[in-house]
Amino acid sequence: MALVPGRRIRLRSRGRCVRKRPPGVGAPGGRELRRISNGRDLHRSAVNAVQKLLRVKGGLKAYCESPDMLLEAEGARECPFCGDGHRLRLHGHYSRFALLPGDQEPQRLPIRRLLCARTGRTVSLLPDFCLPRRQHGPAIVGTFLSRYAEGAPLLAALRAARPDAPGHSVAQSLRRGFLTRAGPIRVYLARLRAQVLEPPPSPTGRRREVAALLVGLCHGIATAAEAFVHHGVDLHARFQIGLA
Ligand SMILES: [Zn+2]
Repeated sequence: MALVPGRRIRLRSRGRCVRKRPPGVGAPGGRELRRISNGRDLHRSAVNAVQKLLRVKGGLKAYCESPDMLLEAEGARECPFCGDGHRLRLHGHYSRFALLPGDQEPQRLPIRRLLCARTGRTVSLLPDFCLPRRQHGPAIVGTFLSRYAEGAPLLAALRAARPDAPGHSVAQSLRRGFLTRAGPIRVYLARLRAQVLEPPPSPTGRRREVAALLVGLCHGIATAAEAFVHHGVDLHARFQIGLA
């Protein structure tokens, strides 16, 4: 199928992952989450949540072969809007961009949609290598922030995670998205382990803020990329927010 940049495409068959150039950068990540540091905003975010972020065994390849594998995940079909958690109806697919680490081609992924027939509201099932409302996936964001916390300039840090990253503004947006969520991330980490881990003493300013969160997120996990995929799912389940 011929693909034209910036043009919407229809997926002809279930489970098909289509490669395509991204239409641009700066997905509208986190716009509604700018003031998420207090409980009321967290609650509003949870009420409006229409996505579930779910773990994928086997990563991108397994997901592309069978996107509906997510239907088998625990709680995937429970309605988040109605108190009794009734079973949601299947409601087709839509497609979504995902940028992956390194030199991997951008992917257009089929995303399963479910419907609450009582309220008319829909729920999307996102695989864990995606970040809700962002094209950049958690593995990119984890590596980027890790390099930044170590002292790399902002854009160089992002390009360490994805060499074709287009510009400074994307890096700024991802860092801002992460730091905007500092409150919920700290709450999440406090529940995870009793002891607060101290960041390395050298960084200052925003670099230190990032480092302080990373040391908690990455503790006991081999790489920041893996840590962001892992914790991204649990943080989203708890607060209905992504990591950036
Ligand atoms: Zn419902």
